[in-house]
Amino acid sequence: MLIDGYGRKHDYLRVSVTERCNFRCQYCMPEKPFSWVPKENLLSYEELFKFIKVSIDEGIKKVRITGGEPLLREQLDVFLKMIFDYKNDIDLALTTNAFLLKGAALRLKEAGLKRINISLDSMQEDIAAKIAQKNVLPKVLEGIEEAKKVGLKIKINCVPIKGINDDIMEVFDYCKDNKFPVRFIEFMENHHAKKEAKGLTSDEILDRVSKKYKIIRKVPRDTSSPAQYYEIEGGYEFGIIEPHKDDFCAACNRIRLTAEGHLIPCLYFEDAMSIKDAIKNDDVDKAVEILRTVLKNKPEKNKWSVKDDNEVSSRAFYQTGG
Ligand code: SAM
Ligand code: SF4
Repeated sequence: MLIDGYGRKHDYLRVSVTERCNFRCQYCMPEKPFSWVPKENLLSYEELFKFIKVSIDEGIKKVRITGGEPLLREQLDVFLKMIFDYKNDIDLALTTNAFLLKGAALRLKEAGLKRINISLDSMQEDIAAKIAQKNVLPKVLEGIEEAKKVGLKIKINCVPIKGINDDIMEVFDYCKDNKFPVRFIEFMENHHAKKEAKGLTSDEILDRVSKKYKIIRKVPRDTSSPAQYYEIEGGYEFGIIEPHKDDFCAACNRIRLTAEGHLIPCLYFEDAMSIKDAIKNDDVDKAVEILRTVLKNKPEKNKWSVKDDNEVSSRAFYQTGG
């Protein structure tokens, strides 16, 4: 079992397979082109898989593949199948922007994928294009349709930014009509995002929803989820992820592996250790030691609740996978 220095049990590994992305979301990455990590610096699927096996043997029960945009890396279905074949009761999930999903959904499902989280920031083509800095909505919606058709369990993520996509009710109604749980995520300030970006707070999100629907209860919290869910009249449940509140970290059960092999204990901080050499040398004991050290050093809380501009996180979401 994997326990950190604050007694939190960890059973969830998020694996970023690439930092590259076909979007430039204002809240995630800089608009101007910059140089990517050279492809030869990335761990191969076989190498990532070696570490995933070590982690599963140590107690990881859920693996989520993310990025950058994970569907940009070729043969992702082959990688998923490697994990699924190793442990077919693993909770195998993917987070994607869905732009390339239409052609991939069936293969991913057949490889063992069960659940998929999809980013959808607006139902208006021009607003979605403003956020992603590219016209994305038609292909994203096609991708979602296909994922639904092949039977993947879908959740939607939406990051509402003030003055851009803060009119969240169209996304809400689309998700409600399709029975997809939507999670509105408070924008987490970071050095890579557009400087002027300001996110809607959880209170502002609740206020917008309650103008249209009666919220009948706060759903008792599932401690392994970062989201607080609410139920509206009629039974539909939606979630809010509030990193600016302290309780966000209390039940944190996750660690993150980047495509270059950095093992990251917390989304906010720069701390990380590399598992690259251990994996390339087939040194399982060393990999386990690094995993345990990263957990031991995991901080108690992020600092998004600290209202100080000097405290903005320098971690890049497109590298950690969010
Ligand atoms: N490209 C995929 C996608 O967008 O779903 C996967 C990677 S993305 C980094 C994972 C999640 O992080 C997305 O749901 C995205 O909305 C979220 N995210 C990125 N930057 C964020 C920020 N600054 N604050 C809150 N959520 C953020
Ligand atoms: Fe790409 Fe996802 Fe970041 Fe948007 S949030 S830029 S889709 S990695």
